[in-house]
Amino acid sequence: MKTASFLLLALLFFPLPPKEVPSYALDELIGIVEPSAHRGFDKLRSKYTTKGKAYLRDEVYAAFKAMWKDAKRAGVDLLIISATRNKQYQSGIWNRKWNSFGGPEETRAERILQYSSMPGTSRHHWGTDFDLNALENSYFETGEGLKVYQWLRANAYKYGFFQPYTGYSAYRDAGYREEKWHWSYYPTASQMLRAYNQHIGYAQLKGFQGDRYAEKLEVINNYVNGIEVDERVLEFKN
Ligand SMILES: [Zn+2]
Repeated sequence: MKTASFLLLALLFFPLPPKEVPSYALDELIGIVEPSAHRGFDKLRSKYTTKGKAYLRDEVYAAFKAMWKDAKRAGVDLLIISATRNKQYQSGIWNRKWNSFGGPEETRAERILQYSSMPGTSRHHWGTDFDLNALENSYFETGEGLKVYQWLRANAYKYGFFQPYTGYSAYRDAGYREEKWHWSYYPTASQMLRAYNQHIGYAQLKGFQGDRYAEKLEVINNYVNGIEVDERVLEFKN
């Protein structure tokens, strides 16, 4: 029997469980997506976000709402200040910084990469990630912000969320600087990262200023995969 027909038979007799079937197209991995016109995304209600229009994948939004409610009960206010951003939007951020930062190009790219992704490499493309409350670590280190951060560190994993960009350590020694505001929904994001590593290469990371530095700086290895996964979230089942 030929391999192909054997595979077909195997699929017929041992179909993948429904949750293993990816509910996204490969284009969505690199942010070629319009969440407002996508059936798998929901528009966030205004009480959850400072944005007029913000979108997350349905299952991410459902988990966020559950977390938001329990946080509220504990006296912690969670407010999304950025959610899904497509490649076009990210290119706007990237090109603006590229044109204003100056300096030698490679250094410039590295400087932007301290906190901002190259278009096509952001977890914000996936509809699984969002920024909460303030885009400054200092906010999360005293007073109200510290209370928010401590609550998230103690509880977010129970809803499937983790902070991918932690401080540098032996475990995480490359990638973006720490972002205490950026949280990610593990069940979907981990599948998307796996697919990204299988299907996306530097040929697809084009179309923005300085795009030749994507490969030079190994952004897939150092940034897309430069995350720390809170091991408590591995047990989460949605
Ligand atoms: Zn973010």
